[in-house]
Amino acid sequence: MTSPDTKKRLPRKDLPADAHIETLAVREGLPATQWNENSEALFLTSSFNHPDAATAAARFANEEEAFVYTRFTNPTTMMFERRLAALEGTEACIATSSGMSAILLTVMALLKAGDHIVCSQSVFGSTITLLQNQFGKFGVETTFVSQTDVQQWRDAIQPNTKLLLAETPSNPLTEVCDIRALADVAHAAGALLAVDNCFCTPALQKPVEMGADLIIHSGTKYLDGQGRVLAGAVCGPDAIINGPLMTTLRGGGMTLSPFNAWIVLKGLETLSIRMAAQSANALKLAQWLEQQPGVDKVYYPGLPSHPQHELAMKQQNGSGGAVVSFTTKPASGPITVTGKNLGDDALRLRQAAFHVIDSTRLCSITSNLGDTKTLITHPSSTSHGRLSEEQRLAAGITQGMIRVAVGLEHIDDLTADLARGLDTLNA
Ligand SMILES: *Cc1c(COP(=O)(O)O)cnc(C)c1O
Repeated sequence: MTSPDTKKRLPRKDLPADAHIETLAVREGLPATQWNENSEALFLTSSFNHPDAATAAARFANEEEAFVYTRFTNPTTMMFERRLAALEGTEACIATSSGMSAILLTVMALLKAGDHIVCSQSVFGSTITLLQNQFGKFGVETTFVSQTDVQQWRDAIQPNTKLLLAETPSNPLTEVCDIRALADVAHAAGALLAVDNCFCTPALQKPVEMGADLIIHSGTKYLDGQGRVLAGAVCGPDAIINGPLMTTLRGGGMTLSPFNAWIVLKGLETLSIRMAAQSANALKLAQWLEQQPGVDKVYYPGLPSHPQHELAMKQQNGSGGAVVSFTTKPASGPITVTGKNLGDDALRLRQAAFHVIDSTRLCSITSNLGDTKTLITHPSSTSHGRLSEEQRLAAGITQGMIRVAVGLEHIDDLTADLARGLDTLNA
């Protein structure tokens, strides 16, 4: 097994101790090989050779640090891990094959049958399914609580609570939870706080500075940033990451492929400028949407009208992020769309939302996010389509809601793309 400090023994690049996030994003990693390549090398190899049998034995006994087998050690993957840990400000990071496998790894490594999790009810849909159905099967129980009501988190704590899991801002309503307050609740109970930092990334939000213990990522989103590969990661203290998580990854094999690691590694280089540009675009789009007669309500933490605007500005480096949701006003005239168990009012909202989405020519109609291309989706019939209409309405997700994951196109082209449908809503 890998002992907690083994990864520290492999050489790192020599960087100034006070280097900024933009510098770390392009420089942190391993030193170049003997060929002195400038761009980070892609090591597509399953295993690594040993000079002799005695050395192999020492490496397997963890007496000597070396790359052994790509299921748990690979130089390209390690460069991504070191770089992301540097950006998040944590001691260590472990890469996984997807965002979901990062959550799977975390819970599998740190909890056992009889343990308890408190989780926001507004986290990513597959996270709810994984905790409730899969881990429920193995005797790990989860209580789901309000994204914004800290008292509900406190009240849900049990003697066997080991983990609190939050995701902020939430999808698609962009509700913001108070990371510091949740860290205090977790630590008072002797539990850990894990934060899914997918929506903000370390370019906008560093949960560890607000007391979070573990940072979870879907690298599929902004870390890659160009919608190419699935990837995930968990960042945190060396004793946890290179302790129980490494042991579980070695046995469970939720490993990130070196090729995908290389893609996200290079994606990190432009993370800060992409997040800044896409967030600036999102703010302009949100402000424009608030002025449109066809729009009912805009959900964006960067707007003063957002209920957690002040908290978001404090927590998210003064930025609202790049995801904007809004609701349309209902369509008038004959109803032309269908939907299981939906009344006329809900169908009129769905009709309006479908019209706006179908009138776009630039935006991609897809439920992913974190791409340089702007992506548009109708949450209530896609990502939240398996919930009942009552569950959706309880969560605040109506048939009129549209989510826009804002990309790098010019803002005037984006507003024109949405105006086409909004302006003709009741024409
Ligand atoms: C997409 C997403 C995930 C899951 O990530 P995958 O890479 O698709 O497995 C988890 N959390 C959040 C917030 C996400 O947006």
